[in-house]
Amino acid sequence: MLTSAPGHNRADTIATVARCLDDDGPLVLLARDGNDDLYHRGPVPGGSIYLIPGLWSTMPPDLLRALRARRRADITGRCDACGAALTLSTGQMAHESDCNVGNDRLRPMLSAWLRRVGRYARGRRLTEDPLDPIDQATPTRQERRDVQQES
Ligand SMILES: [Zn+2]
Repeated sequence: MLTSAPGHNRADTIATVARCLDDDGPLVLLARDGNDDLYHRGPVPGGSIYLIPGLWSTMPPDLLRALRARRRADITGRCDACGAALTLSTGQMAHESDCNVGNDRLRPMLSAWLRRVGRYARGRRLTEDPLDPIDQATPTRQERRDVQQES
């Protein structure tokens, strides 16, 4: 959901989101915020802040691939797995129903892992640049369909 900052109208907010997607330069990890990572990119003062899901060493490979793709999509505004793009007027990204990066599939995967490992057995926190190339094993939508048809 798109929420305006104090003193911003809707057009200001949309323009701000668009600037976040256009920002160049390295991402700098500012802090861990609960299960999320807080990054900054751009000039100081100013620039853009990104709150994206964190990664843990005990996450299974399929969950790690989906989360890496989600982190990248949250920053670039485009999902590499299904091609969805951020709609600036809503602040939403409509992933395909079979995309593991979208909330409908990612949240259950994350919840299942959290139930399995509990609060204190997540392993170590991973530090990765969200814009680094995603593991080549990240399945595309077509590859997932092929696997589903084989089974
Ligand atoms: Zn997607």
